[in-house]
Amino acid sequence: MKLRGAAEDLRRKGLRVREGEPLWRYTTVRTGGPAALMVFPQRVSELEVLWEYLSRRAVPCFWLSGGSKVLFADEGFAGVVVNLRGLKGLRELSPGRIEVLCGTPIAALIAYGLKRGFGGVEFLAGIPATVGGAIFMNAGAFGKSMGELVEELWVLNDEGLKRVSGEPRLFAYRRFRGPKGVLLKAIVRLKPASPAKVRERIFGFLAARRGKQPLGRPSFGCAFKNPAEGPAAGFLLEKAGLKGRSRGQALISPKHANFILNLGGARSGDILALMEEARERVFGRFGISLEPEVQIVGRG
Ligand SMILES: Cc1cc2nc3c(=O)[nH]c(=O)nc-3n(C[C@H](O)[C@H](O)[C@H](O)COP(=O)(O)OP(=O)(O)OC[C@H]3O[C@@H](n4cnc5c(N)ncnc54)[C@H](O)[C@@H]3O)c2cc1C
Repeated sequence: MKLRGAAEDLRRKGLRVREGEPLWRYTTVRTGGPAALMVFPQRVSELEVLWEYLSRRAVPCFWLSGGSKVLFADEGFAGVVVNLRGLKGLRELSPGRIEVLCGTPIAALIAYGLKRGFGGVEFLAGIPATVGGAIFMNAGAFGKSMGELVEELWVLNDEGLKRVSGEPRLFAYRRFRGPKGVLLKAIVRLKPASPAKVRERIFGFLAARRGKQPLGRPSFGCAFKNPAEGPAAGFLLEKAGLKGRSRGQALISPKHANFILNLGGARSGDILALMEEARERVFGRFGISLEPEVQIVGRG
């Protein structure tokens, strides 16, 4: 295995590395086996060293941020998981133009706006995501999505660090269509807003979320994307009678059929089996093939 020696090599380069790190600890759904290696870059320069090292070796690699849209296999991941959460921080370049490192929690960006009198990202309040993950997934809610706020972004790939203008064409439904690579940082544009108004919007969005979504148990939010047209995935799943279906300790929420909950000790295999059953039933009933929104990693 090409990983032999990689842990020592990377440590010698000053990177923090753990072997056999349990992945469930790093996902919001709390499932997943061990990562052969997990690396924790704390600075952009460390990420660059790591990229250089990994790109010269054919080692399977996964970029992990908040872990709120990832389902790792129970067998784990036989490669390098790069944990990007240590790369965090933000600074205001000019009023409302904020440079944010990829591992910064969305909550920190919202809080910064609140403190400084800027808003526009409150629609993501309550999502346990990072800025990098929210851009990569073009996270959205209440008719708005993250891509709308991005003015510029920087992607690290084999061509080096590429600066990209945050044009609308780069963002599709729950997808970033820009250059492949790691999103390193972005400039996000917020709008002037009184702290009272921002606070009111945060509470409003949080209340709307609590009303519709089961937030008391571990999950990864919606399991399936909404089809390009027609009813939402949650509606189709509900009409196909999936609310309340369970496998092991995994349950399709009786409150919102597109949420799969970990009741405690669920396995990724249980969740995958429920997703398979859900897809088959929706296809059988409506002829619509649902596409997973969650990133399924390390199977097979
Ligand atoms: C309770 C709950 C509610 C949610 N509600 C919503 C919602 O309303 N709307 C919504 O859109 N989502 C929602 N989500 C899902 C999730 O929060 C988003 O998809 C979020 O954008 C994922 O960000 P993350 O930092 O957790 O990314 P991760 O889950 O760590 O990663 C997701 C994907 O992005 C890639 N990635 C992450 N960071 C980078 C990077 N810096 N560079 C390159 N690739 C990267 C990963 O490789 C992976 O493929 C919800 C989740 C939960 C648990």
